[in-house]
Amino acid sequence: MAHFRFKAIENSINRTPVTSEAPGKKVSDYFATNVFSRDTMQKYLPKEVYRSVVEAIETGQSIDRKVSSQVALGMKEWANVNGASHYTHWFQPLTGMTAEKHDSFFELSESGQAIEHFSGNALAQQEPDASSFPSGGIRNTFEARGYTAWDAGSPAFIMEGPGGKTLCIPTVFVSYTGETLDYKAPLLKALHTLDKAAVDVCQYFDKDVTRVNATLGVEQEYFLVDISLFDARPDMVITGRTVFGHSPAKGQQLEDHYFGSIPDRVYAFMNDFESEAWKLGIPLKTRHNEVAPSQFECAPVFEEINLAVDHNLLLMDLMDKVARRHNFKVLFHEKPYAGINGSGKHNNWSLVTNTGKNLLSPGKTPKTNLQFLTFFISIIKAVHDNADLLRASIASAANDHRLGANEAPPAIMSIFIGSQLTYVLDEIETMVKKNKMTPEEKTQIKLNIGKIPEILLDNTDRNRTSPFAFTGNKFEFRAVGSSANCSSPMMVLNAIVANQLRLLKEEVDALLEKDIKKDEAIMKVLRSYIVSSKNILFEGNNYSDEWKKEAAKRGLSNIETTPLALDAYVSKKSEKLFHDNHIFSEREIEARHEIMLETYTKKIQIEARVIGDLAANHIIPVALNYQMKLSENVERLKGIGIKASSYSTQIEMIEEISSHVSAIKKNADAMIEARKKANRIESARDKAIAYCDKVKPYFDEIRTHVDKLEMLVDDEMWPLPKYRELVTIR
Ligand code: ADP
Ligand code: MG
Repeated sequence: MAHFRFKAIENSINRTPVTSEAPGKKVSDYFATNVFSRDTMQKYLPKEVYRSVVEAIETGQSIDRKVSSQVALGMKEWANVNGASHYTHWFQPLTGMTAEKHDSFFELSESGQAIEHFSGNALAQQEPDASSFPSGGIRNTFEARGYTAWDAGSPAFIMEGPGGKTLCIPTVFVSYTGETLDYKAPLLKALHTLDKAAVDVCQYFDKDVTRVNATLGVEQEYFLVDISLFDARPDMVITGRTVFGHSPAKGQQLEDHYFGSIPDRVYAFMNDFESEAWKLGIPLKTRHNEVAPSQFECAPVFEEINLAVDHNLLLMDLMDKVARRHNFKVLFHEKPYAGINGSGKHNNWSLVTNTGKNLLSPGKTPKTNLQFLTFFISIIKAVHDNADLLRASIASAANDHRLGANEAPPAIMSIFIGSQLTYVLDEIETMVKKNKMTPEEKTQIKLNIGKIPEILLDNTDRNRTSPFAFTGNKFEFRAVGSSANCSSPMMVLNAIVANQLRLLKEEVDALLEKDIKKDEAIMKVLRSYIVSSKNILFEGNNYSDEWKKEAAKRGLSNIETTPLALDAYVSKKSEKLFHDNHIFSEREIEARHEIMLETYTKKIQIEARVIGDLAANHIIPVALNYQMKLSENVERLKGIGIKASSYSTQIEMIEEISSHVSAIKKNADAMIEARKKANRIESARDKAIAYCDKVKPYFDEIRTHVDKLEMLVDDEMWPLPKYRELVTIR
């Protein structure tokens, strides 16, 4: 067994960097060459068809069936010219992965000749056999089929594989009765309500605003590990993380990895996936080492949110494929290694109008600043009122390891806005009066609001511990896990903000009816929001224990585990919010809730099995083997008449091994019992809770003893690559 580990280490040491396949050209020469972009469409589509596609994209409408056959023709031609033989609808089922089902363009004509064909119908809609995707019972009760439908807001692209190319068409995935079965459709719905609500509010300030979209820039953290070391760890192969492993003597204590120079092998890998990404129009911009050894990060320039989400998913897929060429495995898991920083996916989010104005960037006049404050404060209020839902949107078995650990934001939702904006909000709170304000008071507050841009310019506050931080012209949601599909948190964020903006408009309009002037009406409503939601503002260290205490005092929730966090999806309040904003029916969100619980349960179940198997088949036999060697040693020493005190250490070690082995065995057996019990539970929620509270605690118990054995047993015999080996990239 152990020699497998050494073979893997040897492989990892002897790697020479694979030369990158990067085209030796300027990025601008090949950026988005594999995308059916607007430029390309203009070349391949008749003018009127092109125009109606652009209009559909800009208004968020679906494309006319008549037009879609002409789009299909142009798309097929482009795809064929570029060497694509197949096409697929590319969608995001609730498995959390992207899915594809490839069909060839090839068809036989009536006379039996081979032709390339792609119909408007095939472009607009496909019916993948969806029965093996999770649906929370929706498809069972209604129709067995689901269908995918083109989302014109995200352009088609050509994916290059070894020896073949495929045209991919981004789609939503719905059941025949119209319930959404994916991540994309709810996000699009949330964006639709957000658009309406935000435009209505913008109308108070700027009549030219007719459309508001959200923008997103995703910072993606990941670990790299040599593929043969990875393959030698069944736990990593099956669960994406190490379930055992003693911390290395040198971890990240020295903090010498962050922004350090990038190892050659990694550099080649980065160049390679970046150029692949650029071909697909993914605007990657930055790359660097992260805090932990063998951890890295990349980030694109922000884009319209729907596209940014697709691009992040595509990027993860691409990185995984390109990594294989470089003999790496990319770990997107939130916590691949205990005791070493986990990985997140910071979601930088803002709102932009059709006039090109970033609504979270203060303007030059008091009027635009009031607009900024209106959005800024509404977002704070939305997060405050729906903190639990936002927490639910980032809940997963893997992210549970990360949230609240020493290096990641806790499960407590709070917002960092910096001292200057805190001051501005305080001022509004004290200066804006509930009753009628004097003209002097109004002038004063306007003057103060006018000062915001200068203030923000020298706002150098950076709080890296906040889960939700304002960073000058955008909010950064940092609690999102590295493996997550950002659609979920972004759907929730956009939905709660849309909802809040709608409420704000109702309140402001009610004051306008009472003949209160517009600015004053807005400020009064904002003041009430500040008062009711300032509880969620926190400027201190979110990783500290004091914050946990303080947050509890403030009445903020700290829901540490996924099964309970997910409750917020189906609270009366959330169901109303989803219903009022046309995102989910009660039935849809309940189905989704069940799927999320089941996913959680399955993940823990699989980990439990891996831990049980590894302990029984890899760890215990090796420990007993070593113990045998020690006993033989003692026997021999005894045999040649050595005094007992000379081998007392060996005896102690023999005893220690026995005690760890029996503790492992005892806990593994108890874990199996706990699993059996949990499996008998009917309710998805109770079962997930049982897995969380009754099964999972054994993981650490077992691990402690296995990790102790790792330190005791002869290194030559140890079967699993050790932490120091995994995190060292040569
Ligand atoms: P940091 O590491 O300091 O958080 P980065 O520069 O690595 O910052 O990442 C910031 C991300 O925020 C980038 O993806 C950037 O494009 C994105 N971003 C900047 N402005 C906006 C905006 N208005 N809306 C959304 N994302 C934005
Ligand atoms: Mg960041």
